[in-house]
Amino acid sequence: MGEAPMPDNDVLVEISDLKTYFFLEEGTVRAVDGASFSIRRGETLGVVGESGCGKSVTAQSILRIVPDPGRILQGEIVYHRRRWHADGSTLTERVLLTELAPYGPEMRAIRGAEIAMVFQEPMTALSPVHTIGDQIMEVFIVHQGASRAEAREKCIAILERVGMPKPHRVADSYPHQLSGGMRQRAMIAMALSCNPSLLIADEPTTALDVTTQALILDLMRRLRDEIGMSIMLVTHNLGVVAEMAERVVVMYLGRVVESADVDAIFFDPKHPYLRALLKSIPQFGTKSRRRLEPIEGSVPDPYNIPPGCPFHPRCPDVIAGLCESVAPEGVTLAHSHYVECHLYR
Ligand code: SF4
Repeated sequence: MGEAPMPDNDVLVEISDLKTYFFLEEGTVRAVDGASFSIRRGETLGVVGESGCGKSVTAQSILRIVPDPGRILQGEIVYHRRRWHADGSTLTERVLLTELAPYGPEMRAIRGAEIAMVFQEPMTALSPVHTIGDQIMEVFIVHQGASRAEAREKCIAILERVGMPKPHRVADSYPHQLSGGMRQRAMIAMALSCNPSLLIADEPTTALDVTTQALILDLMRRLRDEIGMSIMLVTHNLGVVAEMAERVVVMYLGRVVESADVDAIFFDPKHPYLRALLKSIPQFGTKSRRRLEPIEGSVPDPYNIPPGCPFHPRCPDVIAGLCESVAPEGVTLAHSHYVECHLYR
């Protein structure tokens, strides 16, 4: 299922027993298959796993943009919206995102304003036929009712805030006239224009060179602290997670198999899948020439998920007679370290 519950006040988004399936002619893909976890206020949560583990579909489920023929079949996604009163007091409202029409007015008002997203490839989010300025201005006009002149002013200010050189010229440029790093900055500017409570970043730096990647990560960290938002960082790159995240959720075949604070994930990993993942990447801060060990076998056919523990065909610690037939239940160990594996029962 997922991790242990935490006090409501700390939680921004709560995902419980989420199942998002794709119904294809070839069969049913259980992309997210009973995942539960929370995103706390102000934190960066890393969501990691190999491709096909369900991390991007979980992000799409939160934003209610699961493409056809995908459908949320079961589970709840709750957004704890906080409103401030003039006297400084706060009110927290419980918004059940899974109950809202994906393209209805309430979800449209939340998407892009309260919960924003940046993608790996900015060209999927930016329109090639409109200038960067027009696209950012539209966010201010639609979500904040700004006039064109006000929207232009705010657009230049946000481009400056993300460190864009020559913001006036960039505002009048089309996406193809900018470098990959500048396009990514422009998308981050657009995502942050309404001071979102949550920024979902799906592989935000994968397509960038190492130097630009470091600049973008630094920018996201700085803006998170300024705005006080949470970040859900979806990535297969454990190095990026080690640098950015405070907590980490590890997914395998649509399930949360482990979650813990970032230090516990790297220095005290529990699940055999996470241990194998960590062995397959270079060690941080060492000059070790140790060979990287690829994970045994490959991710199973998504139409044919193995019974019992879905990791059992690849697991070096498999318990014969148990793991092949019985799905492990989650256990919460000390310090809210959650793991879904028979070894810990
Ligand atoms: Fe390995 Fe069994 Fe744990 Fe699955 S439940 S990860 S097969 S030991």
